[in-house]
Amino acid sequence: MHQLTQLLARLRDAGNTVLVVEHHPQVIAVADHVIDVGPGAGARGGLIQFVGTPADLRRSGTVTGRLLDRPLEVSSSARPWQGTVPVRDARAHNLTGVDVDIPLGGGLTAVTGVAGSGKSSLATQDLPAQHPAFAVVGQDPLRGGVRSTSLSVLGIADTVRRAFSEVSGLAPAWFSFNSKGACPVCRGKGHITTELAFLDDVSTPCDECHGRRFNETALSATIRGSTIADVLAMEAREVAHLFEHSPEIAEAMSWLERVGLGYTAVGQSLDTLSGGEKQRLLLARHLRGVEDLAG
Ligand SMILES: [Zn+2]
Repeated sequence: MHQLTQLLARLRDAGNTVLVVEHHPQVIAVADHVIDVGPGAGARGGLIQFVGTPADLRRSGTVTGRLLDRPLEVSSSARPWQGTVPVRDARAHNLTGVDVDIPLGGGLTAVTGVAGSGKSSLATQDLPAQHPAFAVVGQDPLRGGVRSTSLSVLGIADTVRRAFSEVSGLAPAWFSFNSKGACPVCRGKGHITTELAFLDDVSTPCDECHGRRFNETALSATIRGSTIADVLAMEAREVAHLFEHSPEIAEAMSWLERVGLGYTAVGQSLDTLSGGEKQRLLLARHLRGVEDLAG
């Protein structure tokens, strides 16, 4: 990090205007000018919270300022764990036949070291290869872009479709924008992409469905006044409230909240989520599965 901030300073000192989009406190600290956007994440943001120096940001009372001002608390005692799982003769990539023991049952273990030293090889290759019970929640892209949503990743899209099917008498496929429910003009994408010969493609909202992605038949069905398109535009909390009779939906929505994705729309296309958001969604899916096994 020090090398990076030095590099940024050199770029600036050479007369360049340097603009960095960054969370890291050390990078914010070396800035001459800070613009803090918030107040919340995603749809709950969009407002300028603070403009000024890093020192003033700490005193500003914004979420970023408060967190920067509060020193990180380091736990003074390690949580006890029960036993360990051995990794022996790990040799993925540049590992040289190392042996390590990973604490089990209640321990949070951090694998750290400089870039390229073998952290990921140990944690995501040798460990799961020797102990397949370990689930690796990595940064690999979730499959599906414009056609997948948080609901489908969490495996409850069908449950929601069945609920609409029950109230309307229409087949569940009508409540999928990948199937019968699709708007005939944009085919369920919600927007029209125009290819321009020498310029980037231009995407405009669909005139027929106004971005709702569904056709009139699908939108004729409502649950307590909400259409399937309304549901997909809701945040987790609202969906849990609307389907309060469904423990399965409530539980999946609580995981979205718990991994910090409560501000996203449950029907947002995966290709509109950031890398970090996708990783948290993947984590929510794994944690759901873990709890299913436990319960
Ligand atoms: Zn459309």
